[in-house]
Amino acid sequence: MRLLLVEDHAGMRETMAGHLRQSGFVTDCVGCGDEAIAAAAASLYDAVILDLGLPDLDGMTVLRHLRAGESPDVPVLVLTARDAVSDRVRGLDAGADDYLLKPFDLGEFDARLRSILRRPGLRRDPVLRLGDLAFDTEAREARIGDIVLDLTRREISLLEELIRAAGRTVVRDTLEDRLWGLAEPVSGNALEAAVSRLRRRLAQGAPDLAIETIRGIGYRLVRRGPG
Ligand code: CA
Repeated sequence: MRLLLVEDHAGMRETMAGHLRQSGFVTDCVGCGDEAIAAAAASLYDAVILDLGLPDLDGMTVLRHLRAGESPDVPVLVLTARDAVSDRVRGLDAGADDYLLKPFDLGEFDARLRSILRRPGLRRDPVLRLGDLAFDTEAREARIGDIVLDLTRREISLLEELIRAAGRTVVRDTLEDRLWGLAEPVSGNALEAAVSRLRRRLAQGAPDLAIETIRGIGYRLVRRGPG
């Protein structure tokens, strides 16, 4: 999953981004409203974490841009240092899904983030299944039976995209966009390499599953029928 973090305080931004990456999210960081609007127009995010007090545009203005533009449905968690009830109400009125008052601890932040990522319509069951493979989108781990697959964060993200689309082709550009953040240039064969590694891991525990290459287009995860 890919997140956009909009926070102008550099120390706070780095702490949160480190925490999010540690939790397995591809995370893009920006420090002002204009960059946030540009990033949201350029990439598809699973959620936006938006500080309201920004140096250029007010966070609320950014939120209205997101809602009116190309990200009408993206879950938005608003961060605010202002504990006035009116800010909270304005944020929710402007389309925020939830808010968090600063200062907050990372446990509370995680809980709010999980909650907006679980919104109705976005996904119901946090566990996606295909054949014997179960992918828990909250714990961010893949299991075959009781065995947790030993996957890197990037492989987890790749598997998530493929199992969400199970049976359908996911185009290369989408995968590259979802697996690598803006600050991480993707080398020519990085996606192929990640796919090969994931294939090897799946082959060990789930031989009925295959990642098929659709030449020139992308990849799809399928379950092979018996025989
Ligand atoms: Ca701020």
